[in-house]
Amino acid sequence: MSGPAPKATTTTPGGEALPPWLRPELERLLALQEAGRLHHALLLTGRSGLGKRLLAEALARGLLCRQDPGERPCGHCRSCRLTAGQSHPDLRRLGPEVEGERGEILVDSARGLVEFLHLSPQLGGPRVAVIVPCDRLNRAAANSLLKSLEEPPPGAFLILATGRPGRLPSTVRSRCAVRSLTPPDADTAERWLGERTEAGSERVRRALALAGGMPLAAERLLAQGSLAGYEALLQQLQRLAAGGDPVKEAEGWEQAPVELADGVAAILADLLRQRHGAPDRGLLPAGLARQLAAGGSAERLHQAFLRISEHRRGLEQPLNGRLAAEAIFLELAAALSGAHPSRQ
Ligand SMILES: [Zn+2]
Repeated sequence: MSGPAPKATTTTPGGEALPPWLRPELERLLALQEAGRLHHALLLTGRSGLGKRLLAEALARGLLCRQDPGERPCGHCRSCRLTAGQSHPDLRRLGPEVEGERGEILVDSARGLVEFLHLSPQLGGPRVAVIVPCDRLNRAAANSLLKSLEEPPPGAFLILATGRPGRLPSTVRSRCAVRSLTPPDADTAERWLGERTEAGSERVRRALALAGGMPLAAERLLAQGSLAGYEALLQQLQRLAAGGDPVKEAEGWEQAPVELADGVAAILADLLRQRHGAPDRGLLPAGLARQLAAGGSAERLHQAFLRISEHRRGLEQPLNGRLAAEAIFLELAAALSGAHPSRQ
């Protein structure tokens, strides 16, 4: 690489930040609306840290914007000023009342949303409801929305988003048009994150590795001021390759099995890529990479990668974090057992 990467345009016409990998999808959805073919209930899915909430917000602004097609969201019309100020009378957001895993969206809130959808729009445009993360709808709340999802009042749009569509009742899922968002490629993610942080390129790459390539999740890691989890994981791999106890290493990861699975999967994928001649992206210190690659055959690393990816998918369901962390380290220990450094 020579010189800094060109500055990517990261704003919509209205000056609202929308990451570049989400912009084509926003344009597609607004074009569908323009053609009168946008489904009235959208379910945005994709991995955590990909930007589903940003896209849902940008789409709501775009749907409500009074500017010409192609210019939306413009950022300066009355509607855009109101959405930016969180006070647009025809936009309603719904989320869990309490932050955290147990926060639910309750039936009273959902009923309030249904009433809102049936009011006449105050600015003469559509009415828009944004529900993020929609997997927090409890059973009664989800049921109270079914009719609106099936057949909303004219001019109403519901935008739902979740990284865990499997947690949604199938009655909700089946009433929505599902849009699966695609993560950015590594270079795009790196460039976007690099422009938004003071962290150097090595730390940006490591944050992305730990976040499974998801840029917003990586940004949160950097904002938390440390990559401590990743650095700790590297040390654990070193101990594991030297014959360490996988069950003991799993201790401390039970609260963060998703981060563990993403970090490990990224490391294994990187080792495998390097086996096939891809350039070292600097995810692992060179010494550790050599140590890990020394004994574990490509076939075993590949099998471990597949099984750990399987665990990662299982994490979309509620689970025992400790069991998941242990399973991941046991897979790793099996894959790396041949990497046990020859002590002779
Ligand atoms: Zn506007």
